[in-house]
Amino acid sequence: MKRVLFCLCIISLFLLSGMKVNGQSLYGEKEKYIIVIDPGHGGENKGTVANPAFEEKDILMQTALALVKELEKYEQLEVHLTRTDDTDISLRDRAVFAKSVNADFVFSLHYNASENHTLYGTEVWIPLHAPHHSLAYKFAYLQQLEMQEMGLFSRGIKTRKNDSGKDYYGILRECVARDIPAVIIEHCHVDEDRDSAYCDEISDYEEFGRRDAIAIAKFFGVYEDMTDVEESLYKIKKNETISHTLEDFSGPSQCIISTEEVDYENGVLTIKVNAVDKQTPVMYYTYSLDGGKNFSKLYAWPDTDMITSTYSQEFSLMINVPDGCVPEIAVRAYNKFDIYRTSNKLKGFDAFVSPTAPPAVISPEKPVIKEEKKESAIYVIADILKKEPEEVRFTLKRFIVLMIFITLWMGILLLMLRSIQRVLKNRNDNQSNRNNRK
Ligand SMILES: [Zn+2]
Repeated sequence: MKRVLFCLCIISLFLLSGMKVNGQSLYGEKEKYIIVIDPGHGGENKGTVANPAFEEKDILMQTALALVKELEKYEQLEVHLTRTDDTDISLRDRAVFAKSVNADFVFSLHYNASENHTLYGTEVWIPLHAPHHSLAYKFAYLQQLEMQEMGLFSRGIKTRKNDSGKDYYGILRECVARDIPAVIIEHCHVDEDRDSAYCDEISDYEEFGRRDAIAIAKFFGVYEDMTDVEESLYKIKKNETISHTLEDFSGPSQCIISTEEVDYENGVLTIKVNAVDKQTPVMYYTYSLDGGKNFSKLYAWPDTDMITSTYSQEFSLMINVPDGCVPEIAVRAYNKFDIYRTSNKLKGFDAFVSPTAPPAVISPEKPVIKEEKKESAIYVIADILKKEPEEVRFTLKRFIVLMIFITLWMGILLLMLRSIQRVLKNRNDNQSNRNNRK
């Protein structure tokens, strides 16, 4: 029995190792893969400087060096860098260099920033046309999964066309012209709070490099654990175009809002938000309390997944309405290409005023006021004597009872004295009368 189990283990190990060598690379089988890592910008070309804490060209070098260090662990990978110092190289020269080393793939590294500092998340730009398009898509998919695992919001995998129908971004255009598949990795937005937390120290830039390395190793099938690489990626054909990566020039076709619940007491307004975009999924939403003059920051549309390009059409949005506000609600739904549609407006609400304690009720009845005056007299005495009002009240009561008792006894004593006096007088009168008769 033990021998049978041992044999089965050996056979399965053999099969598994065989699988790893054969057919695991999403690129296609080769003995050695030549990779070019391109840290964007350099020299006077600083890249984004939207975050004053650093310049893009510098943090890119940190990321690139960590990435190269990680990839050097794999014997099947030969890694080159387009620049190793702080010099600006033209996009054409970067592609020419890649061709000169016979590169299989170019990975161009970047960090992002948006004009109004409102966008957040990570994304990958890929070439428009086959066969580079589908190859780049497979890598981008794995890379975005890594970014998502780090906690970043994925803005998806995208293409962009210029006026002559070629790739808009120079590095993709120059590489494709030399028959090299390429991608632009925009790791995150350095100028938005939710992203900048992921890129504010050297260890963060290096983490991005390590994550890119994992995605690259998986893409070429050399990563130690290939079990979580989705089967569907292997099924993508060389000439296949992934429709949701194609640029969408129009915003969502629909964005409708309606009131679900108005809770004046707790200052919460719940609305139903419904948006549709047939070309690319809805990605963000933002809302306005003043009829569209000012909008909140962007939030991820619920149940959105830009990697697989899915989103739910409708959701309930709970809005905390500030105290005293008479809201006029409008919502904007943004699609994957940052184009928005503004909803209808919801009006006619009352002011949201938070409940305060009811004013104290003062009884107008006179006896109460009198009682209060008496009470206040006791309080004054207590204050003078530095005693508790209860003690004063008790002593006062005892004093009154004692006074009544004393007055009563004085009265009785007086009456007794009077009658004794009268008896004595009568007796004296009788004696003097008797003496007079003698
Ligand atoms: Zn850049």
